[in-house]
Amino acid sequence: MTTTFTIEQATGRSAQEREALLAAPGFGTIFSDHMSRIDWTADGGWHDHRVVGYAPFALDPASAVFHYAQEAFEGLKAYAHADGSVWRFRADVNAERFQRSCRRLGLPELPVEDFLASVDELVTLDQAWVPRGEEQSLYLRPFMFARTAALAVKPSTQVTYAVIASPSGAYFGGSGVVPVDIWFTRSYSRSAPGGTGFAKCGGNYAASMVAQQEAEANGCSQVGFVDATEHQWVEELGGMNLFAVSADGELVTPQLSETILEGVTRGAVLTLVEDAGLSVTERRVSLDELYEGIDSGHFTELFACGTAAVITPVASLKDEDGQHVVSGREPGATTLALRQQLTDIQYGLAEDRHGWMHRIV
Ligand SMILES: *Cc1c(COP(=O)(O)O)cnc(C)c1O
Repeated sequence: MTTTFTIEQATGRSAQEREALLAAPGFGTIFSDHMSRIDWTADGGWHDHRVVGYAPFALDPASAVFHYAQEAFEGLKAYAHADGSVWRFRADVNAERFQRSCRRLGLPELPVEDFLASVDELVTLDQAWVPRGEEQSLYLRPFMFARTAALAVKPSTQVTYAVIASPSGAYFGGSGVVPVDIWFTRSYSRSAPGGTGFAKCGGNYAASMVAQQEAEANGCSQVGFVDATEHQWVEELGGMNLFAVSADGELVTPQLSETILEGVTRGAVLTLVEDAGLSVTERRVSLDELYEGIDSGHFTELFACGTAAVITPVASLKDEDGQHVVSGREPGATTLALRQQLTDIQYGLAEDRHGWMHRIV
């Protein structure tokens, strides 16, 4: 069953203004002219599917999201191909993860077809905002928040879902592939058993901000987390999953658990690795194993992956006891090859063998 979206076309910015903004989009700082929106009430379910002009929300100061952070979100991209068509990558997987996140947050589940239609309608209307430069894409941010105006702690009976679109370039700035330094924090945990680690929600990010500050104060651009119980098992970064590659071409990545977010990019990397005939193991990896492996030359490459960062080489791991530099900070061949294969599929330059791409326009 597909629900029809009402389209309320906004005046928006002039073509000239748009082109000026698209000339240097940065990451997540400029937004297209419209947004998708669907509202939900406990009594009426999902209703008023629409695409409207991008505009502020009017919210009661007592809205639950401000006080109890009942919120979940997603992140995916639309890519322009050389022939002018625009495609999305594995959005159905995002839609299903969004349902799992919302279930954990006590939010209603949005039907997968509504999620996909909300993205497709917005991208279709705002297709002129899909940037066409190298490594550029239209970053899409679906999100849902609780808006019942009451301070009693209980799941909201009024919820809004929306999608905004941000023309974007590389997440880490600069051009080309920029290796990043990662700070493994001993002070902060991102998630714990029984918590919300597997869900993509604002609360997890709120809890990671001071850890991210700690990373930056130590000269690193990203923070890495270990498990909250034994403080030794590598989980992931603030918003990316982590892989290590050994000198003999074997990959290892922390196995999924309720404390790790299952990245769509992580899943694609696992498939691409198998396609390439390399072997990959999902298992528990301790921080000490990583440190020793890097220092001994066993692990010659580390990379982080996520929709925003694509596949980004890791230059070093650092903590209070010192720094472990990976292969002289040079991006590794396996990392670069996987990144190329993934982006070639996304930008329509390589065959989409796994049916990951879906044409929107
Ligand atoms: C979004 C996110 C990722 C990456 O997931 P993708 O689906 O690949 O973008 C990894 N870790 C966390 C905590 C995230 O929020």
